[in-house]
This record gives sequence, C-alpha cells and structure tokens, in this order.
Amino acid sequence: MSCYNTEDFIKKCGVFGLDLSKEKLDMFMDYYELLTEWNSFMNLTAITDFEEVVVKHFVDSLAVCQADVFRDALNHTEKREVSLIDIGTGAGFPGIPLKIIFPDLKVVLLDSLKKRVKFLDTVAEKLQMKNINAIHGRAEDFARDQLYREQFDFSVSRAVANLSTLTELCIPFVKRGGYFISYKSEKVKEELSAGKKAIEILGGKMEDQLEYNLPDTDIKRSLLLVKKEKSTPKKYPRKAGTPAKEPLS
Ligand code: SAM
Repeated sequence: MSCYNTEDFIKKCGVFGLDLSKEKLDMFMDYYELLTEWNSFMNLTAITDFEEVVVKHFVDSLAVCQADVFRDALNHTEKREVSLIDIGTGAGFPGIPLKIIFPDLKVVLLDSLKKRVKFLDTVAEKLQMKNINAIHGRAEDFARDQLYREQFDFSVSRAVANLSTLTELCIPFVKRGGYFISYKSEKVKEELSAGKKAIEILGGKMEDQLEYNLPDTDIKRSLLLVKKEKSTPKKYPRKAGTPAKEPLS
C-alpha cells in the first residue's frame, strides 16, 4: 500500500473541506483493491491507475460536499437519519465514497447490471458498512415501488443519461423538500435548457449550479442542484426505456 501517494489523496479531499482519517483512508484503499481486482474479470471502469481513480472517481464523487444543502444536512445526522439513493451507480460512484465519508448516511445503490450489484455487495461486506443496500433493476421500476418512491433526502447520479432523461429517473425517488443532484461535465448549458421542462413536470425546481475543477487538473465539472417542491405526478416515470427514448420536453 505504501507505494500509493495517499498524502496527495488526503490533500485533495481537503480541497472540499474533508478530513480523511486513517480508518477512512484504509477503506478507500480496500475499495481500490477490490475495484482493480474485480475489474480484471468484469467491466467496472476504464480507469485503474491509483492517482487517476483518486481524482476522477473518489474525489469527484465527494464533490457534492461543496454544496451547502448537502453539507448542512449531513452535519445534522445526530438529529435524524439522512438518506441518499445513487441511480446507475455502476462500480459505486458516487455512492460508496460518500458512504465512507459519512458512515451514518443511509445509502441505496441502484444499478440495472446484476454483476455490478454483486460487486457492490462485496464492497459493502468487506468494508463492513452498515445501512447500505445495493439493489438490482431499472430506476423506472423501483421508482414505482412505495418503499422507494419519494423516500430519499437526496437522489444523486453521475454519467448515466442526459438531464431530461435523468430527471425522470431520479426525481421520483426524492421526498418533497429533498434534492436531486446531477454530476455533469462542463458542457451542461444545452442539457439544462433541454431539461428545464422535465424538471418542472416532475415537481422539481432548478436551484443552483456549482462549477469546479477536479483538484490539480483543468478538468471542469458541474453539479446541478434541483429541489423537489411538489410531488411527482403518478404517471412518472414512464415505463422502462421510455425516458431515454422519448425525453420529456
Ligand atoms: N455512476 C457510475 C459512475 O459515475 O462511474 C456509473 C456510470 S455508468 C456509465 C452508467 C450505469 O448506469 C451503468 O452501470 C448502467 O447499468 C446504469 N444504468 C443505466 N440506465 C439505468 C436505469 N434506467 N436504471 C438503473 N441503472 C441504470
């Protein structure tokens, strides 16, 4: 392990105001080991170099900690449980890094590929995480299940679909007063104008857009913060596949 530049990882987390304890650092290292091991026999990520994983997966996942609404909610976990669902989590991004940093956060990881869910179960078990659940299926189907519909404080998603489609996959899971937070690259302007209508139809309101560089790089990213103001009409999401084929506009 000592061959990895963990000091640099700690420093990069500091950019987002996060203090990485030895215990949390060890969890990230175990996660990295599992990710590269499983990636040798199944497709989890194209990025395997440690420093690249740190910046493009771990630190990028944690970028949501810059958002006041997220940080403020997590700083009050002693009063009530805060819940988050990660839609199309893949190898666990951003959900697993967030769970490592905030162990009291209730996390649901959702993905439509079963073998990825198996990987996530293994990560949760090896890292001895509690109050985390990896589920297999389509967002469109789970969002109709009363156990999941409008049950979460935060619904987050990275690299899954364009904003209009993603809005239909994510907003139905959010409680009124909660947030859908979309991780996007810098080219978000067009998506935003195309996604406006979908946000409104599904009960959301675009509240903020945070732009940042991944630490020590010129890679630009955006976080879109959508507040859920009204309940999502019952007919949404439409049946699996329709939000991608016919995005709301
Ligand atoms: N969020 C991860 C990341 O940032 O590395 C994974 C991104 S990967 C490009 C997209 C993932 O979304 C895939 O694992 C895919 O199986 C999942 N996915 C796509 N559409 C989905 C849907 N409708 N419901 C659930 N998962 C979905």
